[in-house]
Amino acid sequence: MSSKVPFLDLVGLHKELRAELLEVFQTALDTAGFVGGPMVQGFEEAFARFCGVRHCAGVGSGTDALRFALSAAGVGPGHVVITVANTFIATVEAISQVGAHPAFVDIDEATYNLDPVKLREFIDRECRHDTGGLVWRRLGQPVKAIVPVHLYGQMADMDPILEIASQYNLIVIEDACQAHGAEYFSTKENCWKRAGSMGVAAAFSFYPGKNLGACGEAGAVTTGDSEIARKVCMLRDHGQSRKYYHDVEGYNGRLDAIQAGILHAKLLRLPEWTALRQAAARQYGALFGAAHCEADGITLPYEPSWSRAVYHLYVVQAPQREELIGLLSAAGIGTGIHYPIPLHLQNAYKALGYSPGDLPVTERVAREIVSLPMYPGLRREQQVEVVDGVMEATLSLRRHVGV
Ligand SMILES: *Cc1c(COP(=O)(O)O)cnc(C)c1O
Repeated sequence: MSSKVPFLDLVGLHKELRAELLEVFQTALDTAGFVGGPMVQGFEEAFARFCGVRHCAGVGSGTDALRFALSAAGVGPGHVVITVANTFIATVEAISQVGAHPAFVDIDEATYNLDPVKLREFIDRECRHDTGGLVWRRLGQPVKAIVPVHLYGQMADMDPILEIASQYNLIVIEDACQAHGAEYFSTKENCWKRAGSMGVAAAFSFYPGKNLGACGEAGAVTTGDSEIARKVCMLRDHGQSRKYYHDVEGYNGRLDAIQAGILHAKLLRLPEWTALRQAAARQYGALFGAAHCEADGITLPYEPSWSRAVYHLYVVQAPQREELIGLLSAAGIGTGIHYPIPLHLQNAYKALGYSPGDLPVTERVAREIVSLPMYPGLRREQQVEVVDGVMEATLSLRRHVGV
């Protein structure tokens, strides 16, 4: 059965842009410029401007962007990197793959992002202060960096995170893979700041389903630091400073010219698409509000006054999540779960030694979150169907358990 309201619809957007995208392919074919070149540079300059930073280096994926940013900023073997467990696995893969050790801090239950209060508690309780800096007692190794993740398109509470980081001399690398164009009001700087412009460096993904998506794999590092930008450019290209002069061992992690051209064309439309996502989020808020969803235990996304979220995902909490998803699916409404198993409890990270109960908010939230359809072309009637579907399902589930 084809769903009435799909979870995501990328085909619609590409129809609108068909002529422009085909032109990018044509240029690449005509010039045989497939790797590097003017299309890559053109996109990098435009994306740096969009984020409000000096430098952008296009890379092969968001995972590459995280790996290269960490490495270029000086994070490596023997270091501890603080992050969250409620994220896509790539955040932690990148930390492990540069040789560092992840340490998880719990999230804020309203924003789903790194909780600055718990970050401070983690430092006070689990770390000691050596002459060389902060040391995580559990491993006896130095804490080097923090990777806040701007999950679902909303930025983490960066002012207190940056303050803690500067107090302990920690590097902050933003995982902005879901937050293209998201904004944070920095009280310290008294202005709105874009995702990707607040840490020492930031990682973006242009995986097709992201708010700015390629027609394949792509990513980028943004930074205000020219030395980090230079290092990322070397790492993505086998550690070359110039052709066949390898200063360090690097990777094959470049951005394709075709993807860069596609991203550049789409970047021009991103503000409009973001406004459509934000309008759809407000619409969900109004429809759910009118249906008194809170009374039925449905929790809507929360946007603090310091946040302008770009709604990569529209995530609600529902007490009987699995049953709800089943009923919605039967009604032709697509959903997702981002993410069902927190990373500290994944088989891949058993060796880190975490147990259930270690991150109570992360674990509770992981049992109740469900992502509803969200994309720029989502129509009002479709949103009405989603909200009706959720409210009907919730009602019938309540009747079933006889509440
Ligand atoms: C998508 C994503 C990544 C990884 O990006 P890829 O381009 O798929 O490698 C990393 N972190 C988060 C939070 C993501 O959503």
